[in-house]
Amino acid sequence: MDKAYDVIIIGAGVIGTGIARELSRYELDVAVLEKEPDVGWGTTKANSGIVHAGYDAKPGTVKASFSAPGNKRYDEWAKPLSVPFKRIGSFVSTKDRSQLSELQKLKEQGKENGVDQLEVIEDTDRIRELEPNISNSVKAVLHAPTAGVVAPYKLTIALFENARDNGVTFFFNSPVHGIDVPESSEENGKFTIRCPEEVLTASYVINSAGIFSGEVANMVGDESFSISPARGEYYLLDSELRGYVNKINFPLPTDESKGILVTPAAEGSIIFGPNHQPLEEPSLATTRDGLEEVYQGAVSLFPDIDTDKIVTNFAGLRAKSNTDDFVIGESEAVGNFINVGGIQSPGLTAAPAISEHVVELLDDLGLRFTKDPEFEPVREPIPRFSEMDPDEIVDYTADLEATKEIVCRCEEITRAEVEEAIDRGATTLDGIKFRTRARMGSCQGGFCTPRLVEILSDKLGVSPEEVTKKGDDSYLLAEETKER
Ligand SMILES: Cc1cc2nc3c(=O)[nH]c(=O)nc-3n(C[C@H](O)[C@H](O)[C@H](O)COP(=O)(O)OP(=O)(O)OC[C@H]3O[C@@H](n4cnc5c(N)ncnc54)[C@H](O)[C@@H]3O)c2cc1C
Repeated sequence: MDKAYDVIIIGAGVIGTGIARELSRYELDVAVLEKEPDVGWGTTKANSGIVHAGYDAKPGTVKASFSAPGNKRYDEWAKPLSVPFKRIGSFVSTKDRSQLSELQKLKEQGKENGVDQLEVIEDTDRIRELEPNISNSVKAVLHAPTAGVVAPYKLTIALFENARDNGVTFFFNSPVHGIDVPESSEENGKFTIRCPEEVLTASYVINSAGIFSGEVANMVGDESFSISPARGEYYLLDSELRGYVNKINFPLPTDESKGILVTPAAEGSIIFGPNHQPLEEPSLATTRDGLEEVYQGAVSLFPDIDTDKIVTNFAGLRAKSNTDDFVIGESEAVGNFINVGGIQSPGLTAAPAISEHVVELLDDLGLRFTKDPEFEPVREPIPRFSEMDPDEIVDYTADLEATKEIVCRCEEITRAEVEEAIDRGATTLDGIKFRTRARMGSCQGGFCTPRLVEILSDKLGVSPEEVTKKGDDSYLLAEETKER
């Protein structure tokens, strides 16, 4: 029988999981449909991980109305969910004193958007005290101390785990390919949502399908907006360089993008990027020219950074709407269908404020809900055994052997952590990587991948040949080699 839900959310990026977690505070039946085998594998997994202060968005836009409020709510999300988040502050730099007025304009814009503590610094000694390795050519910066860095995939995994533990049902490998709209005459009519393996019904639908949110809106006859992808490419450096860069460093922004930044990521490594490449079709391939642009942008801010320590490159896709703004609200075509689309940057920043707003919207639309007295806001992290002392480990676990077996040497990840990641929902190598960092270090999985395949195969009860990197047909092994 088809299961009926109060609310169905389409897409489990930071927006879909954030809304799911906010709704899990109430006594409601909520389901999330995600086309991938895991959460956060769309735009959410590949971005700069910056919780922007909020000065950048033009006042009066939807983006601006959610940016600074999102930033202010971040501690309320990160702390109980045990997510790496640090307010390290950001710099927008200029090498040309004639551009000081641009920094002042950004500062004024920030004030209008509700951003606190913004300061233009012209004292170059002070700039270098705060950021010792920045280019000597930098003459002034806009300092935004409230900006921070977060691990976006870890945040999304934590939101998912906490929403699931508080009663939300998640369906993975479930691409929505059709939605039947309730007859307008029908009282309390329900949407029917079709996936290959599931047919579900719901009174309210939330479309948070990222770069596919335009297509999902089209499924209910809503053609009010469209999305085109814009790629951003990055370099990731070895965590050995931890401490070389202290702040989130931007050049002056352009109309198209915030420019190539250099920043520590929340978990220690340094990233350069992104550039801005509008595309006809989604593609995550990196390009030689694009990476050169990223490289040049980064070394112009940090000329002496050891670029031999680059370990990999990657790309993410912005969901750029034709309105060039977030599309948030009830569909004009169909009642009780809420679009949360076109969430390009600073969507990660805005996510806590957007999630709360969607709950208020559902209330305005007539969904009746009461607080769940059993809601548990706290989610424990997967412990890092290599960082614990032996007494703590004994208190924590019964399987001591698993805490002693280092599987990923670069990041010092133990078998116990990998097994716990699988127990919490990882079904692929990428699922383990985003939960534990195994395969994220300098060898990029060169040493640990065979062991991870064995552990996944044992825990999931599948053959090693069936283990995948990221679902679908991303198999690693063909068949067992035979002795001659
Ligand atoms: C290069 C780059 C840098 C960025 N940097 C920052 C930053 O530093 N700070 C910041 O605040 N923001 C940043 N952003 C923006 C931020 O990453 C996004 O706003 C945010 O991740 C959007 O989340 P989402 O949940 O809307 O989309 P997504 O993460 O894409 O989630 C949508 C989900 O829907 C699923 N889906 C799609 N179609 C269907 C379907 N038919 N059925 C079921 N599931 C479906 C997808 O698989 C996906 O998991 C950046 C973006 C990019 C591309």
